[in-house]
Amino acid sequence: MTDKLQHRVFRTISDIAEEKKVDAYVIGGYVRDIFLNRPSKDIDIVVVGSGIDLATETAKRLGNLKVTTFKNFGTAMIKYRDMEIEFVGARKESYNRNSRKPIVEDGTLEDDQNRRDFTINALALSLNKKKYGALLDPFGGLEHLKQKLIKTPLAPDITFSDDPLRMMRAIRFATQLNFRIEEETFEGIIKTRERISIISKERINDELNKIILADKPSIGFKLLDKAGLLELIFPELSALKGVEIKNGIGHKDNFYHTLEVLDRLAPYSNDLWLRWAALLHDIGKPASKRFDEKAGWTFYAHNYIGAKMTEQIFKKMKLPANEKMKFVQKMVKLHMRPIALSEETVTDSAVRRLLFEAGDDIDNLMTLCEADITSKNEEKVKRYLKNFELVRQKLREIEQKDHVRNFQPPVSGEVIMKTFSLKPCKEIGDIKSAIKEAILDGEIKNDYDEAYRYMLKIGKEMGLEPVSE
Ligand code: ATP
Repeated sequence: MTDKLQHRVFRTISDIAEEKKVDAYVIGGYVRDIFLNRPSKDIDIVVVGSGIDLATETAKRLGNLKVTTFKNFGTAMIKYRDMEIEFVGARKESYNRNSRKPIVEDGTLEDDQNRRDFTINALALSLNKKKYGALLDPFGGLEHLKQKLIKTPLAPDITFSDDPLRMMRAIRFATQLNFRIEEETFEGIIKTRERISIISKERINDELNKIILADKPSIGFKLLDKAGLLELIFPELSALKGVEIKNGIGHKDNFYHTLEVLDRLAPYSNDLWLRWAALLHDIGKPASKRFDEKAGWTFYAHNYIGAKMTEQIFKKMKLPANEKMKFVQKMVKLHMRPIALSEETVTDSAVRRLLFEAGDDIDNLMTLCEADITSKNEEKVKRYLKNFELVRQKLREIEQKDHVRNFQPPVSGEVIMKTFSLKPCKEIGDIKSAIKEAILDGEIKNDYDEAYRYMLKIGKEMGLEPVSE
């Protein structure tokens, strides 16, 4: 392992540890990622002694770098080029039931490894001269890396009960690394799941977002479901599960469909919020589900219900309440439009309307909708994808010709007021929306002169006379 520790940072820390006669190690995710060949920039150093002292001296020697210290935690951090190096004194932790904040005391390297969440995260490499690069692996973490296994170093119940966030982390690592969670460890999550209630929503979201951003997010959501965590942290998603059958007619399981859409979207977009939109696109289905003797199962207006639920879910889960939420809401609301369009003959005016409503988010919407085409019937999928290509082509043509993306009606309210000598009133809005409709329907062009003439015509029909200049 010595060859992996040639960087000036490690050599410097090693020199200082030698002079101060303390033991120092690289530990945790950085070591794990060396073995996984995943380049990492976050380095954790543990020292049997003072982390702050070691950080201060290292910062000095690397070129008078700034040290950020967290005295309460006995940790210190320095940034060197694109690396973030965190120093901590080896510690022993004990927990009480109501908090994930432990009581901390100085400890040995073994104590420090015991407090780690998983065996693969407890690996340490020595930085001391005599055993530079030696691996300290008390729990068989290296073997577990080879077996692609997530396992707690101590009894799972204790590890998870001490800090229930670790349950989310186990599932997140299993998803990111495509690892299996060892049986007893998974049993431990099932048993301890209720304790997730002491974890802040923000921390849960950090892990959820990492699952959503993985190559195959469905792994994580299936595990969350299987562990009984999903219904606790995200009941609306859990409610999509299941198939009801009436008169021999069933509907698809919207939970698995949703996960399939999310997985299908993943190779095309790393945008967290578009991925959230995939997760929520059918969230309104349970609330809108009806059985109709003739039509079978219907989910009428589930996109509108879903858009409303998006805001409530974001609020409840403490996700951002800003334009990110608005974007997700918009995608949920519009997610059926391109599909509906591809089913009919694709008219110019329908395409114009879609462009107008989606604005700059049209490409994201199309990406989401294409991922939404899941069916076991390959012929059907092929047909949809072909029609979709047609919609995309039409979208390009119309946008080039009419520029309706983000358009504002070319005649403003002020012009209308001035022309007919009106005070602010409902008629102004009516005229404006009539102009907008005419443009979207292709009756008139999206330009000032045509819109002005059209305004005079509508005004006349409403009994309004233009005042002469
Ligand atoms: P990533 O950078 O992908 O989040 P990581 O393993 O580096 O992965 P960090 O959160 O930076 O994750 O944690 C660094 C190390 O600290 C971990 O490898 C693990 O040893 C330890 N650790 C972090 N969080 C916990 C926790 N909740 N319980 C126990 N050990 C933890």
